Amino acid sequence: MSDQFLAGRSALVTGSTSGIGLAVAEALAAAGASVVINGLGSAEQIEQAKAQVSQAGAPTVAFCAADLRDVSAIESMMTEHAGIDILINSAGVQFTAAFADMPAERWDSIIAINLSAAFHTMRLALPNMAERGFGRVVNIASVHGLVASVQKAPYVASKFGLVGMSKVAALEYAAAGSRESGGVTVNCVCPGWVETPLIEPQIQARAAQHGGSREEGVRDLVREKQPSQRMSSTADIAALCLFLCRREAHNMTGAALPVDGGWTSQ
Ligand code: NAD
Repeated sequence: MSDQFLAGRSALVTGSTSGIGLAVAEALAAAGASVVINGLGSAEQIEQAKAQVSQAGAPTVAFCAADLRDVSAIESMMTEHAGIDILINSAGVQFTAAFADMPAERWDSIIAINLSAAFHTMRLALPNMAERGFGRVVNIASVHGLVASVQKAPYVASKFGLVGMSKVAALEYAAAGSRESGGVTVNCVCPGWVETPLIEPQIQARAAQHGGSREEGVRDLVREKQPSQRMSSTADIAALCLFLCRREAHNMTGAALPVDGGWTSQ
């Protein structure tokens, strides 16, 4: 059994029916946390996610169906789960198109899910965390919160916004709690390429340029910007999130931590 340092704690992970969010939910569960998962998906996908988190070791697993484009749904979710110690904002969407071709409604939905939803979950969770002297917010931003790429205007805007907003929250709550209680911290994790359904359309577009070979598509995508030449796994990202939830990480706040194989060092 892994270190149960989160026994007695509870966590809410947005966008945890898939990808990075699901891996973080499993990692928190394995450390003993009760977990609330959230996200879209078929009934089967949701049951599968719940089963995985439960098997990972969560004492309780709940599911909240809130669609994060809906502020009142977020408010209900946060009222129902007001006691959470850990908030992971992982829900996110991507759509690539040149500036002039970007549909206006894509701008609205990407900003709503990737940025505004995190504002609403944080504004509702942080005061309770401060009152208890312990709280952790980890926002899954991106290298695109640190540098730009073409054809990703709303995504890059949302992630730069998320990094900046997290720093404001980190400052406002920096003095809450104590070294012993663990304090209240707010950080961003900024992954480069992580193999999840989110980037599948980009892999497929590259594969098409290489006679349909998915493997070549992945290689091509990574070669362009990620010097390590390899993608991260979702478990790699989850391991960093888990560390940020430790009491010992009480003085790590306001950081935007790249996990990008050297992408943003160039
Ligand atoms: P994913 O597609 O596997 O998961 C996205 C999750 O968000 C799913 O659970 C989905 O249901 C949920 N979601 C989408 N719209 C929602 C809505 N309206 N309401 C509630 N939930 C919604 O993608 P992922 O790669 O795991 O992405 C997770 C986060 O990581 C995102 O914020 C993404 O921007 C970020 N990220 C991913 C990569 C990568 O290479 N995969 C790189 C950097 C950052």
